[in-house]
Amino acid sequence: ESFSDLKLNKQILNAISEAGYETPTPIQQQAIPLIQAGHDVLGIAQTGTGKTAAFVLPLLMKLKYAQGDDPRALILAPTRELAIQIESNIKKYCTYLDLRHTAVFGGSGSKLQIESFENGMDILVATPGRFMDLYKKYVFGTKQIKTLVIDEADKMMDMGFMPQIRQILEVIPVKRQNLLFSATMPESVITLSEEFLEFPEKVEV
Ligand code: AMP
Repeated sequence: ESFSDLKLNKQILNAISEAGYETPTPIQQQAIPLIQAGHDVLGIAQTGTGKTAAFVLPLLMKLKYAQGDDPRALILAPTRELAIQIESNIKKYCTYLDLRHTAVFGGSGSKLQIESFENGMDILVATPGRFMDLYKKYVFGTKQIKTLVIDEADKMMDMGFMPQIRQILEVIPVKRQNLLFSATMPESVITLSEEFLEFPEKVEV
């Protein structure tokens, strides 16, 4: 299997090849076609498996190009570090695409984060608390969100984010594609996945 067997466009294939990637990793081979087919996906994969590209690449194909003012995809991460890392991956894969993306997280001022919405937004990476803060300040609308990714769900549950995630689910559209990634599947993540995913396809590496 090669990246050109996956339904990715030329701009994305160029960015991937410049990143030095030669072949898709197992999680990418399995998850990308399922995500592109529109399924909800439960991905059980550790950091280092290439899980970020597994959800970001099909997301870029789905969004195609900059459109409207408000984010169409929301990626939730448990920590500031992970949010920054996901966003820097998105930036790398978006080199030849016209898509707007940013990361917002607690523990630093919100002024610059708020300014990043000035020219509209396509992909928002956020920690749950800062997402709700900025939402309540009307920094962005949530009505256009059609894809929700929860990354490192096990860490999310360990850090006690379930109440915030429930709040977020209440303010985004019901009709959307859901992707959940977790390194492990404790009871808390099984519960979250049952609440959150509809007929998920499970991918495990
Ligand atoms: P992740 O599991 O998403 O944290 O990715 C781990 C590392 O693998 C990151 O540094 C990625 O840039 C890199 N990576 C992701 N996909 C591939 C691939 N197909 N080939 C080589 N490296 C990759």
